[in-house]
Amino acid sequence: MSIHDRTVSLVTGGAGFLGSHLCEQLLARGHEVICADNFFTGTRRNVEHLIGHPRFELMRHDVTFPLFAEVDEIYNFACPASPVHYQHDPVQTTKTSVHGAINMLGLAKRVKAKILQASTSEVYGDPQVHPQREDYWGHVNPNGIRSCYDEGKRCAETLFFDYHRQHQLRIKVLRIFNTYGPRMHPNDGRVVSNFIVQALQGQPITLYGEGLQTRSFCYVDDLIDGALRLMGTPDQVTGPINVGNPVEVTIRELAETILRLTGSASPLVFRPLPQDDPMQRCPDITKARETLGWAPRVQLEQGLARTIDYFERLLSSSTGPLPHGLQPSATPVAAAIQTPALAA
Ligand code: NAD
Ligand code: UDP
Ligand code: UDP
Repeated sequence: MSIHDRTVSLVTGGAGFLGSHLCEQLLARGHEVICADNFFTGTRRNVEHLIGHPRFELMRHDVTFPLFAEVDEIYNFACPASPVHYQHDPVQTTKTSVHGAINMLGLAKRVKAKILQASTSEVYGDPQVHPQREDYWGHVNPNGIRSCYDEGKRCAETLFFDYHRQHQLRIKVLRIFNTYGPRMHPNDGRVVSNFIVQALQGQPITLYGEGLQTRSFCYVDDLIDGALRLMGTPDQVTGPINVGNPVEVTIRELAETILRLTGSASPLVFRPLPQDDPMQRCPDITKARETLGWAPRVQLEQGLARTIDYFERLLSSSTGPLPHGLQPSATPVAAAIQTPALAA
C-alpha cells in the first residue's frame, strides 16, 4: 500500500501481449502499476498509451536480476511465450522462468506481497489425459526444444509451492491455455497472429503437419478477467487453476475460419510439424468455474474478428511491409532469425 492507500501492483512482462492488457485493467481498478520489462518480446508501443498516466510507471528490468520495490501484489508474467521466441535463446528462457521466479518470490517474501504466476498449459506437455485437469502431472520431454519453456515453467511452479509451504507466501498459480487478441506481435510465430497476417497479406497459410493437432483458444479479455479473479481469492486458494476456452478446434479449422472471416483467397500450404508439438490441448475448467465463478464469454469467431480488425489497422498504419520490417514467419527457423529485430 502506498501512503495514498492504493494497492501497488507489479506486473513483470507488462509490456508484452497479456501484460499490457493486465496493466490497463489494474489502472482501471485504481491501482498503482509498476510495469517491469526487458523488452525482449514486448514493446513500449504496447503501453505507450499508459505512459504519462499518474499511476503508471514503466521500468526496464530483467527479472533474472534482483528487484527491490515496495509493492502489495506481483503478477509474474515475464517470459517469452511463443515457441519461436522462447527457443531463440533457450538458456535465457529457463533463467527467466527459474531465476525470475526466485527473485520475484524473494521480493514477495520481503515485502509480504501476494504473488501470481503466469503458468501454462505447457506444464502438461503432449498430454495423454484429455481434457487436462489440474491434477494431471503431464507428459513432458525434459530435454527437447520446448523443454526450456515447459520445464522452466514447471520448476517455477515448484518454487511457488515451496515458498508457500516453507515461507507461508500467499501464492496464486494460473495455468494459461492458448490466448490470443490485439497486441500479439505480428511476427511472434504463434498460430493466430501468423494466420491472420498471412490471410490479410494474401500469403500462403502455413499449416504445420497436417493441421490435425488441436488447441483451445481464449480471448485476451477473458483471460485477464480470470487472472484478476484469481488474485482476488482468499489466501487459501493457491491454484494451480486452468484458465482457457474449452472449445477445441483443429489448426486446420482455425485456418479455414480465419480465411472466411478475412475473405482472403490465401492458399493452405503444409510445413513440417515442429519437434514435440503437442497433438491436443483442451482445458477442464471446472475448478475455474467453481472457485472463480469464471467462464470464457467471448466466442472464437467474435474474438478473431476483433483481432483481425487490430491487425488490419496495424498493417495499414505501417509504411513498410510490417512494423520493424518483419514478415510473418514462414517456418519456425526463419522467424527465429528475425527475432533480434524485435528489441527495436
Ligand atoms: P509476450 O512475449 O507478449 O510477453 C512476455 C513479456 O515478458 C514481454 O514483454 C517480454 O519482453 C517480457 N520478458 C521476457 N523475458 C523477460 C525478462 N527476463 N525480464 C523481464 N521481462 C521479460 O507473451 P504473452 O503471451 O504476453 O505471455 C505472458 C505470460 O503468459 C508469459 O509468462 C507466458 O508464459 C504466459 N502464457 C501465455 C500464453 C498465451 O497464450 N499468450 C499461454 C500460456 C502462458
Ligand atoms: N530478492 C529480490 N528483491 C527483494 C528480495 C529478494 O529481488 O526485495 C531476490 C534476491 O536476489 C534473492 C532472491 O530474491 O536472491 C530470493 O530471496 P530469498 O529471501 O528467498 O533468498 P536469499 O536472499 O536467502 O537467497
Ligand atoms: N502452427 C501452424 N502454423 C503456424 C504456426 C503454428 O500450424 O504458422 C501450429 C503449431 O504447430 C501448433 C499450433 O499451431 O500445433 C499452435 O501453435 P502456437 O505456436 O500458437 O502455440 P503452442 O504450440 O505453444 O500451443
